[in-house]
Amino acid sequence: MPKELIVAIDGPSGAGKSTLSKALAKRTGYINIDTGAMYRSVALLASRQQIDVDDEEALRDLCAELSIEFVREAEQERVIVNGEDVTQAIRTPEVSLLTSKVAACPAVRQALVGLQRQMGEAGGVVLEGRDIGTVVFPQAQVKFFLSATAEERGRRRYDELRTKGLEVDLQQTIAEVEARDAADSARELAPLKRADDAIDIDSTRMSIDEVLAEMLRIIAAKQREAVE
Ligand code: C5P
Repeated sequence: MPKELIVAIDGPSGAGKSTLSKALAKRTGYINIDTGAMYRSVALLASRQQIDVDDEEALRDLCAELSIEFVREAEQERVIVNGEDVTQAIRTPEVSLLTSKVAACPAVRQALVGLQRQMGEAGGVVLEGRDIGTVVFPQAQVKFFLSATAEERGRRRYDELRTKGLEVDLQQTIAEVEARDAADSARELAPLKRADDAIDIDSTRMSIDEVLAEMLRIIAAKQREAVE
């Protein structure tokens, strides 16, 4: 029986983390924890309740009441927050931008990192985010840092939004990706940063299947190491 590992996937937005962590979870039987969806959920609730992103007390209270579940339903992963399916609502460009601000709040990070550790400590998990290998699980047995150029990531995001029928501009989408990178890398608390022992994968010129195969090879080798 292969050992249940903790797999961390960090990297900037649009590098393919979500697609790959879902695919990895499916292939390994591990649970997928999308930590970005957790920060997005807090941003959505804050915006609905008209909580200011600088109001740390109010954000702390909001997080104290928070219940987040990831439910797999007919091959689709749904995000259920306080009983409501918010899978679509947390993906709008407005929520994306607000999320970077909410994610800089210490009380929010403390609450969500605590939840992430509870969900993942037993192993058999793939967590994707920005600070998994550095802050949440520095002891993770497998750490990937997945990147791609900002232009390529913006193009992928543009294609995805267009497929959904949204009218978007390519240059503006690339600029939004760059703005989010800058905010996530510059913040003081748990910035987007590669862990020293992370394995770099640049997906700019690779297909999803190629990256997946590479990651599965590395995980299988670590599982073998762990039982030896
Ligand atoms: O991964 P995703 O694009 O859904 O993340 C949305 C935002 O949540 C990021 O831009 C970042 O500000 C924040 N985030 C974070 N730490 C994580 C995951 C996401 O700060 N572990």
